[in-house]
Amino acid sequence: MESMDREQHGQQPDSERGHVHIDRTSAPAAGRPGAVATRGGVMPAVDVYIPTPFRRLTGNRQHVRAEGHDVDEVLANVEKQFPGFRGLVFGSGGEVPAHINIYVNKQEINSLQGIHTKVVEGDEVAVIPAMAGGADNGATAGRKRIGALTAEQVNRYSRHIIMPQVGPAGQRKIMESSVLIIGAGGLGSPIAVYLALAGIGKIGIVDFDTVDISNLQRQILHQNADIGKLKAISAKETINAYNPDVEVVTHEVPITSDNAMEIIAGYDYVINGADNFAARYLVNDACHFLKKPLVDGSILLFDGQVTVYLPGHGCYRCLYPAPPPPGMVPSCAEAGVLGALCGTVGTIQATEVLKLILGVGDSLHGRLLLYDALAMEFRQVRIRRDPHCVLCGDEPTVTGLIDYDAFCGGAFGHTNEEEQKAADAARAARERAHA
Ligand SMILES: [Zn+2]
Repeated sequence: MESMDREQHGQQPDSERGHVHIDRTSAPAAGRPGAVATRGGVMPAVDVYIPTPFRRLTGNRQHVRAEGHDVDEVLANVEKQFPGFRGLVFGSGGEVPAHINIYVNKQEINSLQGIHTKVVEGDEVAVIPAMAGGADNGATAGRKRIGALTAEQVNRYSRHIIMPQVGPAGQRKIMESSVLIIGAGGLGSPIAVYLALAGIGKIGIVDFDTVDISNLQRQILHQNADIGKLKAISAKETINAYNPDVEVVTHEVPITSDNAMEIIAGYDYVINGADNFAARYLVNDACHFLKKPLVDGSILLFDGQVTVYLPGHGCYRCLYPAPPPPGMVPSCAEAGVLGALCGTVGTIQATEVLKLILGVGDSLHGRLLLYDALAMEFRQVRIRRDPHCVLCGDEPTVTGLIDYDAFCGGAFGHTNEEEQKAADAARAARERAHA
């Protein structure tokens, strides 16, 4: 979307390819206080949207009001009201770190004038951090070919088949498709269940972990009797209990630079439900090199993010060029996540992959969907390929898979417990492979 027109900020875009806009439902509107008079005259006042990971500083307020002529001034005034806020948003050198994006009326400020982007009365500034979350090898198996549907299949998928957007041909496309799910956890669970019910031909599950009782608050692939079982195995059993037609390939290993290309190459689509940043960047890079569509989702507390990356049209690194430094963004293990939120975000991811398979509708490609469950608001911001992206930009410097453990802070200690667990498992796998 690098050629996307830039709109004048301060105005609502009148159309984004006909999408229905449901964002800004709580943006400034009639009834809000107007401009605030100051000694220097009238200073514009804007709404600043605070995502839940940062709300502990704002007394759990979703929006705060702050004055300023540009983003820098506005955020300085938020800092005055809520000391410590600036430290969350800015790096030690006063720069906006790569894991934080700031938007003015849905436009990322780097495509405007950075922190000096002017604001006017009634604008909305949003500060959005990156969030992490939440074998045998049949990967080389050829594409499935489905002939005429059996009577049982016609019955099973009848509510799909009667829809004009699906029909028997669409249902066959679904049954001929293969989807790799990274992580059989909070997001991977609803994704896997709905893809299984839809009749996806081959579902790959990447997960090295075992089911723990603390997973059962949200991970609907697993039940009480599965505690202690490998999640990939538990997932396969649940998927086939729902639909025995689905071929399930389990990858009971941590995904690493050594195996990612081989695993991902065997699938048409990849859905990311990883709970750590190292896996998120690794899967992004491998999908870029293999030209696989990637449906990305992440969750934390009451917030979710979902988008779609299509080959050649931007990637996760365009959105978040670097992971947060250790301790900056907590994990679900540290901060928690509402179980039902996983269902919402995972189901949107499953919906997006089914739309891609069917070739219907407008995908989330080029848009980041933000879900705030506390406010019960969906909003979207535009994202586009960054020509300076180190991976998919015009002059890429990342030309192969790297050491993601080191990239995500391995040398300085990990961001959180899940990062550490994933890094330890990856290291153990490498040592086994090279022993
Ligand atoms: Zn990129």
